Amino acid sequence: MTANLGQFVPLDAHPSQNVRQNPLFGLDREALAARMVAAGEPAWRGRQLAEALYRQRLAGIDQITTLPKALRQRLGDEGWEVGRPKIAQVFQSADGTERYLIQGQDRDGQTVEAVWMPEGDDGESGDGSEPDQPEEERKSWDRATICVSSQVGCAVNCQFCLTARLGLQRNLTAGEIAGQVVDVLDRHAVEVGKDRVNLVFMGMGEPFLNYDNFMAAVRLLVEEAGLSPRRMTVSTSGIVPGIERFALEPDEIRPKLAISLNAPNDAVRGEIMPINRKWPIEMVLEAARKVPLRSRERITFEYVLLGGVTDRPGHAREVTRLIRRSGLAAKVNLIAWNPGPGIAYTMPAPDAVESFRAALAGEGIPVYLRRARGRDIYAACGQLKRTVEGPRL
Ligand code: SF4
Repeated sequence: MTANLGQFVPLDAHPSQNVRQNPLFGLDREALAARMVAAGEPAWRGRQLAEALYRQRLAGIDQITTLPKALRQRLGDEGWEVGRPKIAQVFQSADGTERYLIQGQDRDGQTVEAVWMPEGDDGESGDGSEPDQPEEERKSWDRATICVSSQVGCAVNCQFCLTARLGLQRNLTAGEIAGQVVDVLDRHAVEVGKDRVNLVFMGMGEPFLNYDNFMAAVRLLVEEAGLSPRRMTVSTSGIVPGIERFALEPDEIRPKLAISLNAPNDAVRGEIMPINRKWPIEMVLEAARKVPLRSRERITFEYVLLGGVTDRPGHAREVTRLIRRSGLAAKVNLIAWNPGPGIAYTMPAPDAVESFRAALAGEGIPVYLRRARGRDIYAACGQLKRTVEGPRL
């Protein structure tokens, strides 16, 4: 799929004090080649540009020394810039997690959040992406996970989620989604192909309600930046038409799928996730069964434990039956709910969390407990609301 060209804004469409340049970042190789041809240059210059933007992670046209100086000058004069989203603020947790407010490409000044979790949060355990790298070649962080946003805010309105309080402000462009990743890779000097970094599209927003831009970003990250789709997981609240489209994506490009289940049955799920009234559990499972899985791959069911609401022993038995009935190669990621201001749920008791985990494990369901990362900087699951509290760097 060609990256979204819609992010180009004619320079004369805005008042002069607001003029900004056209971003190259977000365009794929073909679109970059088309731009070069339009500028009277050979198409292979597009490949050089893609290499500079996504592999070398260069942030300014001046730095792209594979292009002749005169061409760089001309691109700048004609209103082009790299235009990669920028990290505007960094909040650092005692546990090493970093949360970023990232300034997008739009002139609306809206920021989104991304999170860096050195050592991951165990969310990827058991899904077939275990280490393939000798220990002596690893960095101070053995592995890391980057959590990425797909929209500014979210329309899905899960009752336990802080992002839902923002409502949907707008979709992110492909460049704004991929840009979060490239920013964070750059900040931590990640060597793609060598370091073990996982991406989870689980930040602000519902990726399948911004499907085209989300998948265009995945293509940029796979085809241009060189990341593996087997190290990417996209989480959906259960947008059935999105899951069905996703099932048709080719293996070489398709990330792994996670479904935010969060409840043992439709009655409870409908209360905490109103989207369930449109697409109940059975419809979601039906769509998920259409997604072809690679060897050792499993679909992840994420399950937020809310004290007294979804964490009872009977709920664990229902979840076990539901997973068995689904016929899916699946695993369950349990997440002890993270408190947020103004949300009237309670954290589950530690023994309820352990009992729930043990009940599923005892029935042979692969089950993992996601570690809460960065809770002190509002970086944990369901806490992303562009909060500006927390220790800054
Ligand atoms: S949990 Fe995800 S899908 Fe639900 S409201 Fe929050 S960001 Fe949206």
